[in-house]
Amino acid sequence: MIDLRSDTVTLPNDEMREAARDADVGDDVYEEDPTVNDLESRAADVLGKEAALYVPTGTMGNQIAARTHTERGQELLCEVESHIYKWELAGLAQHAEVQTRTIEGDDRGVIRPEQVRAGYVEEDLHRPGTGLLTLENTHNSKGGTAISGDAIAAAAEAAHDLDVSVHLDGARLFNAVTALDTTAADLVEPVDTVMFCLSKGLGAPVGSMLVGPESFIDRARRIRKLLGGGMRQAGIIAAPGLVALENRHRLADDHERAERLAVGLDDLPGLAADQPETNIVLVETDAPASEFLDACEDEGVLGVPFDDHVVRFCTHWNVDDEDITETIAAVERAV
Ligand SMILES: *Cc1c(COP(=O)(O)O)cnc(C)c1O
Repeated sequence: MIDLRSDTVTLPNDEMREAARDADVGDDVYEEDPTVNDLESRAADVLGKEAALYVPTGTMGNQIAARTHTERGQELLCEVESHIYKWELAGLAQHAEVQTRTIEGDDRGVIRPEQVRAGYVEEDLHRPGTGLLTLENTHNSKGGTAISGDAIAAAAEAAHDLDVSVHLDGARLFNAVTALDTTAADLVEPVDTVMFCLSKGLGAPVGSMLVGPESFIDRARRIRKLLGGGMRQAGIIAAPGLVALENRHRLADDHERAERLAVGLDDLPGLAADQPETNIVLVETDAPASEFLDACEDEGVLGVPFDDHVVRFCTHWNVDDEDITETIAAVERAV
């Protein structure tokens, strides 16, 4: 089976397994796990921020960020298709206890600065005030679009001018960095805090990083504990994360394979695929997505439905050039 459902299905390699076995560990709730401490300082360095916090999942990282940045009852501004709003079980209402105000981004998920200004609510006797703007890069629901540094900076600047902090959901931050041919530190310089996943294209078995100013991370650490995310000898799972962080240099391979896959699928009858910007290929299907995916599965390829007539295929490091050739042939048989 060629599994293109997500870049989260990646399996740890021998280097990661050895790193886990050999990791120096301690009690991370006491901040005494040397491997977790290494990973946190390495992540902060790579992003050019002061500090970082290792969290079990990207979802928890985003939720901690929202809670740490805001006060109960404030508003949070985000893009209407963003993961933090659409795919996190209304956690913003439950953990941060904020009201969400959504902005409709363009077809790539970009939010313009005027939209930030229009969505801003000033606190007074009747209105709660805006506590946070969240951005997403790459934008998952829009097909892994890599939002430019200029667009991120413009939205962030509009928020900062209104005294509103900015959190970036960078679950696939390094896919954006690769596609834009920039550095992570440059790309996230305009935002206050960032979450990125080790467990997606980077291939770690577990974990995400929340990165930002030291005072923010100190408060975020308490919220992580509150949510039950204070882990003990977490170096066992952080060690493969350190290995995974170096995988950021190989994501261009996934992007090339996604391009080749899109070209191959677009050529098939009843399918249309735009050129992907990163590792996510969205395919429009004449047939209902579920029927198409059943036929693909019978031929040995897995994807996920994204809409009634849209499916997503995701390339990752357990998929090689031959798998792409085989996928195109299998989907041809399926259609
Ligand atoms: C996957 C994803 C997350 C959440 O990460 P988990 O580790 O699965 O909780 C958050 N934001 C975006 C954009 C994602 O794609």
